[in-house]
Amino acid sequence: MSETLCHKYGFDAAGRRERLALARLGEEDEALALLLHEEVIAPRVNELVEDFYVWLGQQPRARQFLDGEEQVARLRETQRAYLLSLGLDFDSEDYFEDRLRIGQVHVNIGLPLSLYQCAYGWLRDTIATRICTTPGLNDNQKTRLRSLLERIMTLDETLATESYYLERVEELEESLSSMARERARLSEQIERDALTGVASRPYIMERLEQQLARTPPTVFSLMMIDLDHFKDVNDRHGHLVGDHVLREVAGRIRGATRDLDLVGRYGGEEFLVLLPATGLETAARIADRIREAVAATPLHTREANVPMTISIGVTQSTAMDSADTLIGRADYALYQAKEAGRNRVNIA
Ligand code: GH3
Ligand code: MG
Ligand code: MG
Repeated sequence: MSETLCHKYGFDAAGRRERLALARLGEEDEALALLLHEEVIAPRVNELVEDFYVWLGQQPRARQFLDGEEQVARLRETQRAYLLSLGLDFDSEDYFEDRLRIGQVHVNIGLPLSLYQCAYGWLRDTIATRICTTPGLNDNQKTRLRSLLERIMTLDETLATESYYLERVEELEESLSSMARERARLSEQIERDALTGVASRPYIMERLEQQLARTPPTVFSLMMIDLDHFKDVNDRHGHLVGDHVLREVAGRIRGATRDLDLVGRYGGEEFLVLLPATGLETAARIADRIREAVAATPLHTREANVPMTISIGVTQSTAMDSADTLIGRADYALYQAKEAGRNRVNIA
């Protein structure tokens, strides 16, 4: 069974007592509420409903909610039941539940709050006039009934308004958290290279800039890695196998680096590895481990086993470096590794 609105919004017996005290309704009002029901509302309830829908039909904002005979008939029935229960048993859980439900229903159908606040105003005013014109009530009774009407309608309106806006807040919170999930998904997409699963170029470049911006500057190292004769793989086995090899190589590079290192895809078959707080000597040792991890065994794809080697340029940061100078140096070291015969590490 779903949770009651009374429970959801804290209207247990104590919560209801507190609200009734705030609306200045007490036990002594119960007999008066019965009088209101018997003398003013029940004898002319159909007329009241009729007049209410005439008024509502004249409001341009209400028209879209008055679509179709069946819908209007249902609304009239709801309105009739509402009027016939007005003030009766006002301290019961059912009374509160019905009033809270009104706000919830109105949020769900998108009815503007102002419209039903004005509808309460109309009812309040119309019933007050009926009290004045009801034969058989003396002046004292009329005064007391009008006071009761004010307080009862205030109670009803506060409950409906409260659930209206609490439901709305809940809706907004849900949409906020789904937007946060979506944002996390998108930034994950931006930060990762879709083919290889390593960091994207924008992300590793951002992290490189962060390393360079550190004060005081701290030494770190950078590697540029390029697959050897990768074009031949595409030519011989096709691009799909090429893609597979690229993914596998990226995995091996990652497997041979430490947790603190960041591997990213710089371009087609070129990778960068950022090694924070790492000097050249250690970086060169890790580079050789990576080179060895790739060269050790052919890469296994469904179509073929493809032997592959990589060349690596390694460099260490200086206080004068920018991202361009650093990458330029790593690239030059890589170029020299290629010139020297590939499948090797070269430092600059
Ligand atoms: P070298 O040893 O001098 O680096 O030779 P290479 O063949 O690796 O270098 P080259 O620059 O001539 O060719 C790189 C190839 O990488 C060409 C390009 O088609 C391929 N390539 C780049 N990105 C991708 C990719 O995402 N998937 C596939 N399958 N191939 C790619
Ligand atoms: Mg290459
Ligand atoms: Mg290349």
